[in-house]
Order: sequence, then C-alpha cells, then structure tokens
Amino acid sequence: MRLTKSICPECKRIIEASIFEENGKIVIGKECPDHGNFRDVYWSDAELYRKFERYSYTGTGISNFQSSSFLNCPFGCGICQDHESGTLLANIDITNRCNLRCPVCFANARVKGVVFEPSFEEIRKMMETLRNEKPVPCSAIQFSGGEPTVRDDLPEIIEMAQKLGFAQIQVASNGIRLANSPEYCKKLKDTTLRTIYLAFDGVTPDPYIETRGFNALPLKKKAIENCRICGPESIVLVPTLAKGVNDFQIGGIIRYAAENLDIVKGVNFQPIAFTGRIDKSQREQKRITIPDVIKLAEEQTNGEIPRNAWYPVSFVVPISRFLSAVRKVPIPELTVHPHCGAGTYIFFEEGHFIPITNFLDVEGFTEFLTEIIPEMNGKVSRVLTLSKVLRQVPRYIDEKKGPKSINVVQMILGVLKKGDMENTSRFHRNTLFIGTMHFQDLYNIDLERVKKCGVHYAIPDGRIIPFCTYNIFHRDSVESKFSVPYVQESKPEQE
Ligand code: SF4
Ligand code: SF4
Repeated sequence: MRLTKSICPECKRIIEASIFEENGKIVIGKECPDHGNFRDVYWSDAELYRKFERYSYTGTGISNFQSSSFLNCPFGCGICQDHESGTLLANIDITNRCNLRCPVCFANARVKGVVFEPSFEEIRKMMETLRNEKPVPCSAIQFSGGEPTVRDDLPEIIEMAQKLGFAQIQVASNGIRLANSPEYCKKLKDTTLRTIYLAFDGVTPDPYIETRGFNALPLKKKAIENCRICGPESIVLVPTLAKGVNDFQIGGIIRYAAENLDIVKGVNFQPIAFTGRIDKSQREQKRITIPDVIKLAEEQTNGEIPRNAWYPVSFVVPISRFLSAVRKVPIPELTVHPHCGAGTYIFFEEGHFIPITNFLDVEGFTEFLTEIIPEMNGKVSRVLTLSKVLRQVPRYIDEKKGPKSINVVQMILGVLKKGDMENTSRFHRNTLFIGTMHFQDLYNIDLERVKKCGVHYAIPDGRIIPFCTYNIFHRDSVESKFSVPYVQESKPEQE
C-alpha cells in the first residue's frame, strides 16, 4: 500500500488517499470529511503495476522555478519548487477555435462563447520561458488547441519555435485543413515542421459518427495521403479511447499504422479522462486504464504484441543518461511517473508485428548501461569505455528473433555510438512507436504522480503548469482571464 494525496471530487479540497491492491487490481481510495468515500480503479493489473513501479526516477525539476507550492499542490503550479521533472514536452494552446463541431467537445470557442487565442508576441514569450528553463531547456513543443491550423500565422509560429531552438516541434490537429489543402501541407513542411499529431479514433466510420457527429475517416485518410506526398514527413495517430466506441479497434489501428509506416511513425492511445461529475457505476463501466489498453492490444493482435513488450515511459532514463555521457551534453530525462504512460517499439514484416522485446533483452541492456554510466563520466577514457559498450551490445540481441530485412545490431549500435539525429531517425524509420498515456481526473488523481509530470502547458502569464493539473484545475481560470467574446464564424469545414 502507498499513501498519497488526492482531491475530493466534490469540494476539490486536498485529502489523504491510499493506493492498494484488491482482487488483482490497484485501487485508489480516499475520504473527504464532508463528502465521504471515493474509490476508483487506478491500474487494472497489479502485476504490471509492480513491474512498472521498478522504473521510478526522480528528475531534477526546474531550478528557476516560478512559484513556491508550500504543500499546496496542485494549486500552486507555476512550476513550483516541489515539482520533480522538467518540461519534456510543452503544450501551447494557440487557439480554442475549431473547424469542427464535435458533439462531445465542450472546450471550443463556439460552445464556451469566448475566444482564447494568445497573440504572436505572447506565444513568443511563452516559448522564451520554456527555453530559459534550467538546468535543461525545454526542447520539445506541441502546438494544440482547439484546432491550431485555423490560425493563419501557424507557419510563422513554427518558424519562431525553430529559431528559438526547439529541436522537436509538433502540431496536434484534427487533420481537416491538411485533408483539404495539399498546398497547406507543403507550407507546413517548408517551416521544417516534422510531425503532426493526428486525432484518429478508428479504422471504420462508427467511432467518428459517435464522437464527431460525422464520418471523418475519409478526411483522416486524405490528410495522411497529403502529408505523404507534400509533408510534413511524419504522423503520430492519436486515438481517444472510449469503452464500446473504439476500444475494440486498438489492434486495427496499430495494423493500419504499421501498413503506413512510411509516414505514420507512432500511435498514442489516450483513454478518455472523465471531466465533471460521474457516478461510481458509470466510472466502473467506462474506465479504461493503461493495463486495459495493453491487454486489448495483446488480444487484438493475436498475441503478437504481448503485455511483456510494454514498459513505462521512464524506462528509457538510463539510455538518456548514457547518451548524455557519450555526447557530454545534458539530455532531457523522461522521469515522468512510471504509471502515467507505457510504450514499446514494434517492427512490421510480412504482415506480422515484431516487438523490439522479442529480440533485444531490454532489461538486461539498460541495467548494463546503468552500470557503465559512472565509468563513462569517470577518469577512464570515454572512447575506451564506449568501445567496451559497443562490443557488449550483441550479447543482448538475438538476431534470429528480429526482423530479417534490417540489421538490428548495426541499427542499435548507430544510435548508441552517436545518438545523433541521423542515427535516431534511421531507428525511427524502421519502427513504429506505440504508446498510451492515461491522463488523470478528479477521481483518480494522485498528487505524487502529478509532481513528476513532464508534459506541461505554457500559459500567457508566464506560468508553466503540468498537463493534468492544468486541465482539471487551472484551465478555466486561465482561459477566462485571457479570453475575448466569441463572434460567430463561417460554417465549419466539414459541412
Ligand atoms: S503539480 Fe507540480 S508544479 Fe503544480 S503544485 Fe504540484 S508540484 Fe508544484
Ligand atoms: S500529463 Fe498527466 S498522465 Fe501525463 S505525465 Fe503528466 S501527470 Fe502523468
């Protein structure tokens, strides 16, 4: 059992909570003196929970923090001095306007009656704050919304991000404008934008009809086709998973991504988080946790992507530390809480999935790297130590179980030797990343977990706020402070 703090879903005060095992599941239980007991499934598989727990790291946080929390988490976000991870991926909502009218969306300008759209200069300041983070400046940024492509100055915003030194720039989009205009795709590519995070809820019309109100699948496919021809060069599919709507399409979505591996480089499943009040039986019925996604992926790929192929996001921390020692520069470490997200890499050959764990002893290999890091940083010649590491790599690889068309040993050696963009890109060209992140809500929020969050929002008043706390506690006040009244726009683009 682990003790933590959480929030009363009714009065939103901070309350004690415990996380414990019950019938093979991990449950969060908490009690508010005024509103009683609350329980929710935290992780639906206790065994996987324990496996992931082994990969918990404490990051350095941000030394030039903006606020002191005084134990007031999650209301003291800023980033505050207690926060344990730097910004690994920054989000900037550049508008809450959208070119769709999804029946499930309560966040867009039309429904809220206000427009939240930071000016170009405000966005520059937010990005400067991110780049000034110490000791490691934020290097990855995502522009989101609403729908960011409704802003005509998006290309200029991306160029500004590049000038400010962001190495990884991505745009989260519903794909409508990309589908309607190959010229616009080209324009985005010319900014050096490399990645689109494309909302993609399934491989049949039904999930779209249910959540978006119309069959958006042809538009999604057209957006992918336009990017294939005109750029940007990579797409990550982002399915929002809801029980009974598309949770039975996880395998189909992974297969679709693998069949389009020339352009689709990843799938990031996001189980729907509950907003507002929802009663216990509804929660029990609708809750999808990370182990559920993993189990469904196994079932729906006929066991080709088994549950033991998945590891927490933080699993790669020793690899970052090793590459940092090789290159003698600080590299962001993915020190997010081990129960926030999971992922794996897969190869696809002759219609079959080959997870990286089939042929690489990933645990043995990262343990070896962890042991060697002090030597890399110590007095022994770095070059000698690196060649010792490279000689050892084949020990952890069973080539017979890997893809036949790729020399996996050379590919992994390339990443380790240099860790540069070219070698990393070669790795990414051949693999599909599949991941899942389960955002928290008022019922399952664990303040120990949120303290390690590395996905942050930058907001116009200079604060940096962790993603889950922003969406649950801060978004409304920020948006109302920086919004102007909404004026009716032209018809949405899908009509
Ligand atoms: S979520 Fe992080 S930044 Fe916000 S108050 Fe808690 S520790 Fe501080
Ligand atoms: S966004 Fe939420 S789920 Fe993701 S790392 Fe942060 S706290 Fe965890």
